[in-house]
Amino acid sequence: MQKYDIVIIGAGPAGIFTALELRRRGFAGSILMAEQGAPIEKRGCPKSKTRECVHCKPFCHITSGFSGAGAFSDGKLSLSYEVGGDLPELIGAEYAQELIHETDAIYLEFGADDHVEGAGVNEEVKGVRRRAIQAGLKLVDCPIRHLGTEMAQQVYGDIQGWLLAHGVEIRFGTICRDLVIQDEICTGAVLEDARTGAQEAVAGGRIVIATGRKGADWLEGLCRAHGISHEAGPVDIGVRVEVRNEVMEEVNNLLYESKLIGYPKPFGNKVRTFCQNPGGFVSQENYDDGLAVVNGHSYKNLKSQNTNLAILCSHHFQHPFDQPIAYAKKIGELTNMLGAGHLLVQRYGDILEGKRTWQDELERSNVRPTLPDAVAGDITSAMPYRTMVNIISFIRAVDQVVPGFAADETLLYAPELKFYSNRVRMNDRFETSVRNLHCLGDSSGWTRGLMMASIMGVRMARIITE
Ligand SMILES: Cc1cc2nc3c(=O)[nH]c(=O)nc-3n(C[C@H](O)[C@H](O)[C@H](O)COP(=O)(O)OP(=O)(O)OC[C@H]3O[C@@H](n4cnc5c(N)ncnc54)[C@H](O)[C@@H]3O)c2cc1C
Repeated sequence: MQKYDIVIIGAGPAGIFTALELRRRGFAGSILMAEQGAPIEKRGCPKSKTRECVHCKPFCHITSGFSGAGAFSDGKLSLSYEVGGDLPELIGAEYAQELIHETDAIYLEFGADDHVEGAGVNEEVKGVRRRAIQAGLKLVDCPIRHLGTEMAQQVYGDIQGWLLAHGVEIRFGTICRDLVIQDEICTGAVLEDARTGAQEAVAGGRIVIATGRKGADWLEGLCRAHGISHEAGPVDIGVRVEVRNEVMEEVNNLLYESKLIGYPKPFGNKVRTFCQNPGGFVSQENYDDGLAVVNGHSYKNLKSQNTNLAILCSHHFQHPFDQPIAYAKKIGELTNMLGAGHLLVQRYGDILEGKRTWQDELERSNVRPTLPDAVAGDITSAMPYRTMVNIISFIRAVDQVVPGFAADETLLYAPELKFYSNRVRMNDRFETSVRNLHCLGDSSGWTRGLMMASIMGVRMARIITE
């Protein structure tokens, strides 16, 4: 059996920054990264040619491969500890912010754009905040370094080259199927060649799982099978909203991303905006089990006439039901079913009038969908009452901050689902209930974004080398 000092499962930002920081700090031990997807230069979404998702097998290129969900993402690095997950609860807000600055400097070394959006507070920003307060919303300050989809690929491509040049072994097309755990000590992982199906166990001094949102279900299964201590976290269910750039112009220019949080009546659940893409494109993300969900991204140079952003509602489940991922998936499947396998899009005004949207009605609006294969229909037939009421109330409140946001023609795409529910119980040294096993990034339930996943990797490396 081959033996490594460190075995990292998943080559997303969390896994990458673990390996990168280990080598930067002079760690000379052997490091293996196992990634089910392809190297960055072989990743490519055929949709730009086919215009329709062709459900790439064995894995979707958008979410798998070197740099994980980051390479084809919008590459927005959120530079505030208040954004991107709950990791600060584990390591402390101040330390999280310190790590963000240090990790941001690494991104800059690898060629990230030095321009930061949304930094600085002036009278106009104060005006936006005043309107948010009047509408009962909180405006979160979060400077953003925007890599853009093309730049993100270049930055992560350079990191891939650097890791290989510094002796990190990266096995692509390699799926981790299981862990080797004896007497509550993790000693290795079972890897499978995605092409041949051949399996091999490798031994590791420490095993770091960083399999992203995509690997959250799998990790939850592992936790159940091996008794790794974990708990159900929240799941976010919502819609992606698309409006003309003119509507969002003021906040786009001032803040790039307006992070607004509210707790609308009568339910008082947390509802928030997420992942705002000025001049961006709505996109489809496919899970390997066939579930199609909506997302959004933007390019640095190619711009659309629209801005899209997610509106997400947090859902918690405790007793007697404790499977939030399964709950969200059922809603996603129902929405996919109503769209005959496609994403659904509906005009906000039609929702208020209680009618579905028809394809020809979309043509009449100022706002034209940037995701042409979304099907006009009725998202309210699939969305739970509580979630829908939360979304409508929140859109009304945002309209006070951004006049025109609640226009009849505003587009709502569904399902927008964020799976980060299974939270692995860990201490601030990322020690799980199983010795030598660490869980990082989105699959651990502690992060939800590129920067937060990256700093978790940096922190992991420092723990190992301390
Ligand atoms: C379209 C899109 C746009 C986004 N835009 C932004 C943005 O602008 N800003 C932001 O902060 N965040 C954004 N995100 C979220 C961000 O990409 C993730 O939060 C981040 O990538 C999480 O990093 P991670 O390392 O935890 O996991 P991931 O990046 O998901 O990487 C996990 C890797 O593990 C691999 N893997 C999974 N299971 C296994 C297994 N069993 N064996 C081997 N390998 C496995 C996967 O193939 C994947 O490559 C976006 C996500 C998407 C999908």
